[in-house]
Amino acid sequence: MRPYGFGIDIGGTAIKLGLFRTEGELLEKWQIPTRRKDCGKWVLPDALDSVRAKMAERGIGWDQVEGVGMGVPGPVTEDGTVLRCINLGWDVFNIPNAVKKLEPHIENIQVSNDVNAAALGELWLGGAKGRWSAVMVTLGTGIGGGIVVGHKMIYGSGGAGGEIGHICIEPDEPVRCKCGGRGCLEQYCSATGLLRVTRQHLHDHPGTQTVLADTPELTAKDICDAAREGDAFALSQLDLLGKRLGRALTAVAATIDPQIFVIGGGLSNAGQILLDPIEFYYRKYAFHAFRHTEFALAELGNDAGIYGCVKMILS
Ligand SMILES: [Zn+2]
Repeated sequence: MRPYGFGIDIGGTAIKLGLFRTEGELLEKWQIPTRRKDCGKWVLPDALDSVRAKMAERGIGWDQVEGVGMGVPGPVTEDGTVLRCINLGWDVFNIPNAVKKLEPHIENIQVSNDVNAAALGELWLGGAKGRWSAVMVTLGTGIGGGIVVGHKMIYGSGGAGGEIGHICIEPDEPVRCKCGGRGCLEQYCSATGLLRVTRQHLHDHPGTQTVLADTPELTAKDICDAAREGDAFALSQLDLLGKRLGRALTAVAATIDPQIFVIGGGLSNAGQILLDPIEFYYRKYAFHAFRHTEFALAELGNDAGIYGCVKMILS
């Protein structure tokens, strides 16, 4: 095994990069802006330029680099073909082929969906360390899902394995999800969803006793903070989120039966006050054979993606 590897986590606004020792030590991380213009055609060249600049700075040659792992915010098949990535303006193309054309020295290039990569990172050195199967759920603007079984990521036939945010839980929902469907899990249980549901309740019930009623420009963090301070209405909103998400995860468990669920994403910064209701309702609704699945908060934060990316080239 060569001594170094790079993890590249491509997001809609920033590309996060990490230089690792191949035994798992993160030596340095940095980020560059994602240039989305011209249908995202600068994204890969920019990322590789940044890798080359770092190698020059540290005096590392390609013969010392094991490979490059990459996470992208969209569906990816096992051979690294991205199937349209709306956030980046990408259509359908094979990423390893494109990378090798840009940098022929890279022999080992692995690509996956960003949340799948984050799940692998958490399984390797984070909240799911030591397990061999995990489902990662990220609660942010949307809901991301990443599934690892037997240390292997589940890509799915169309690259959409783990897209649990678009499980339909309320078919009669009048508002459309950004995917075009109605009643998707992420419409209720993402940070955006929590805020939407809470605002709607305050609008429909003007007399509700809560500090949130007087909070200007309400955020999901305000709701979690109020819950932590004992605000009964804020607590009821987290309870409702936990009920919906916990129940949806029983369906995931009925399919995958993972050892552990890892909850990450911006909303997970709320910590135990968010995790407790999810876990409570999961156990309440779960089939007895998977009622005791572990739950944990993600531990690697924004770095989970780069850890998982580099892990891909090692396995
Ligand atoms: Zn949806």
